[in-house]
Amino acid sequence: MSFPKEKDKLPEIKRIITVASGKGGVGKSTVSANIAFSLAAKGFKTAIYDADIYGPSVPIIFGLEGFQPEITVMNEDEKIFPAEKDGIQVMSIGFFLNPEQPAIWRGPAASSYLKKFLLDTLWKETDYLIIDLPPGTGDIILTLCQDLTLDGAIIVTTPQKLSLADVQKSVSMFKHKDINVPVIGVVENMSWFTPEAHPEEKYFLFGEGGGKLLADRFETELLAQIPLVDGLSKASDKGDLKLFNSNKILQEHFNTITDAISNLLPV
Ligand code: ADP
Repeated sequence: MSFPKEKDKLPEIKRIITVASGKGGVGKSTVSANIAFSLAAKGFKTAIYDADIYGPSVPIIFGLEGFQPEITVMNEDEKIFPAEKDGIQVMSIGFFLNPEQPAIWRGPAASSYLKKFLLDTLWKETDYLIIDLPPGTGDIILTLCQDLTLDGAIIVTTPQKLSLADVQKSVSMFKHKDINVPVIGVVENMSWFTPEAHPEEKYFLFGEGGGKLLADRFETELLAQIPLVDGLSKASDKGDLKLFNSNKILQEHFNTITDAISNLLPV
């Protein structure tokens, strides 16, 4: 079986990296946004596309809620200008959804809208485009993987071994011979909590070992174990990017992750 490749439709983008998870709420969007911040901080021209139709949180994280993208017509085609924040180009499916209403697109309609918004965005010259995928392995992801040349996937999971079943399906999908997107590695998020007053202690609130188990099983790297960071939720909700940029622990972990990206997939 062979699939049409439409990479030529995104000629301004050198590398496309997807961030995926088995289920929602594991920190996929948080990890996607931080990968983008870290790449931009290293001087790469960076963009993020939030394709998480079921819970587009990138506008909130970037403080872009309510942003209405400007639309222009070029050669009879409508084109969309992305938002720009801290030097990162941002496009989200959330810019086109009413936050009061859940996404009404399903199956093929959702896939074709997601692809259309991605291809119709007027991206500037970009080294790395990060795609924040919806959780799971549904049609939407399959369509994106089949129709675009994706350079690599990062898998986000929590340490809980019980939740591995879903995420394993996701990794298997990327590794399937007809999809064949290289898995760059696993990021375990919410690995433990260390209270500020007791920096030597680790509390494993969501279990232990899930990220390593997954990485070993699929012969890929465990790129980072990111602890629970006090105040991260609040900062994300406020679109306060300063926390991401000033938290040393986050910075170190994301430096490691983006080193792996740029080493494996140089631009
Ligand atoms: P997903 O995209 O997988 O649904 P999100 O990135 O939206 O998950 O994260 C879910 C919630 O958990 C958000 O409120 C986010 O701020 C919070 N969160 C994610 N990672 C961490 C972390 N390492 N420490 C603290 N809170 C986190």
